[in-house]
Amino acid sequence: MEWEWKLIREACTGCGISADVCTVGAIRMTREMPYPEPVPLNCTFCLDCPDECPFDAIEIHEVRLAAFK
Ligand code: SF4
Repeated sequence: MEWEWKLIREACTGCGISADVCTVGAIRMTREMPYPEPVPLNCTFCLDCPDECPFDAIEIHEVRLAAFK
């Protein structure tokens, strides 16, 4: 199973809350960055960041992989 972490830029204010709530370093955000960036290899898809974002700016989706034929 694959998952996709997606930032909705139109909704994101760059507040940094998502980076603060992530306990495994899967969201990078510095003062110089306008938006948070995912660090996919660290993400455990715990769903804390979409739950805690007050602007609903993060979506996590299951991605269905196409079968090889
Ligand atoms: S889903 Fe969990 S582990 Fe992944 S970026 Fe969000 S808070 Fe971090």
